[in-house]
Amino acid sequence: MPQNPERIVDHLELFKQEEYTQLFKNKHEQFEGAHPAEEVQRVSEWTKGWEYREKNFAREALTVNPAKGCQPVGAMFAALGIEGTLPFVQGSQGCVAYFRTHLSRHYKEPCSAVSSSMTEDAAVFGGLNNMIEGLEVSYKLYKPKMIAVCTTCMAEVIGDDLGAFITNAKGAGAVPQDLPIPFAHTPSFVGSHTTGYDNMMKGILLNLTEGKKGKANGKVNIISGFDTYVGNNREVKHMLGLMGVEHTIVSDTSDYFDAPNDGEYQMYPGGTKIEDVADTINAKATVCLQRYTTQKTREYIEKTWKQDTKVLRPFGVKGTDEFLMAISEITGKAIPKELEVERGRLVDAMTDSYAWIHGKKFAIYGDPDLVYSVTSFLLEMGAEPVHILCNNGDQEFKAEMEEMLKASPFGQGATVWIQKDLWHFRSLMC
Ligand code: SF4
Repeated sequence: MPQNPERIVDHLELFKQEEYTQLFKNKHEQFEGAHPAEEVQRVSEWTKGWEYREKNFAREALTVNPAKGCQPVGAMFAALGIEGTLPFVQGSQGCVAYFRTHLSRHYKEPCSAVSSSMTEDAAVFGGLNNMIEGLEVSYKLYKPKMIAVCTTCMAEVIGDDLGAFITNAKGAGAVPQDLPIPFAHTPSFVGSHTTGYDNMMKGILLNLTEGKKGKANGKVNIISGFDTYVGNNREVKHMLGLMGVEHTIVSDTSDYFDAPNDGEYQMYPGGTKIEDVADTINAKATVCLQRYTTQKTREYIEKTWKQDTKVLRPFGVKGTDEFLMAISEITGKAIPKELEVERGRLVDAMTDSYAWIHGKKFAIYGDPDLVYSVTSFLLEMGAEPVHILCNNGDQEFKAEMEEMLKASPFGQGATVWIQKDLWHFRSLMC
């Protein structure tokens, strides 16, 4: 029976009506096997037991709820922290809608990114024309200072050559020759958003610093990694500001994803200035606040720029102490009294809450660096992690985690699971 247009009922109320309850009942009986409630209950209990857990962990071909994102999500995140940058994804529209929505929903902020809308013809003939047309339209319509190109699986399966395509697009006059267009190949069938971040960060640095080697600028570069909490960049700026350390946060998304609501829409709020990114090649050192999202980037900086890099994760007291001491060592700047006072307040807050956390059991999952940092902080609080799961962690991550856990009296009962998904996690929780 169609709804009465004079009285549109909310879906919750609507689906309770006789017509729908009968329809659900019929569907259940005719198509869903209609197992008796006791059988459903029995199977539900069985999935919580050891027998099911063994079967679940023997699973090879199927991944259920992997708790990781596609490579282009990370690539877009790296690009959006540079001023006036428009991410351009060579591939299908649906993928890009998902990336944008993912970031917009998380931050409750607009997130701009375009796609070259590849469809069947591009899959057969290649995506060159889509790229040329897409770059031209994007540049004219959205007036970016930089366009950062990455790929979806489709473009990668076809084998689109981004470097050659961009050269062709510039040659065809689609965009100005001097418009920076860094790129990164980001196939999602390998790696995750953390790999995509790394690939794009390397691509941006490679593009913007080319030919910029010059006088040392005395600065420290900070690469935050795929850290979605915008407050962390602000805190790093606050600490380095108090120390008087000149620095460049390479890709600072804190204003982009936490823009003030002042009544005026800005398409590209905040971000690291392009000339500052170009000058990172002349810095004293590069400090990465994550290890597993910056592997290729660090290798590039060390080998090509011949610049020192360090991984320092300023989480908890130990992590922040190590960060500040290393910065002090690199720059020769002393750690000021204000930071000592702030540290004292943190230790006080931790002591006050220690009784609630100490001895409590935890299961943790997430991206490698976040998991490492959260676990390190929990160990400082006397918490006892039991299961630590990281879908996109590798053997190096596992070894690093196990070393940290072994060194703490609270980490002795923990197991680190890599390349496992949230359905494995469910079994571990039962
Ligand atoms: S896995 Fe590949 S095809 Fe699927 S949404 Fe991600 S980029 Fe697109």
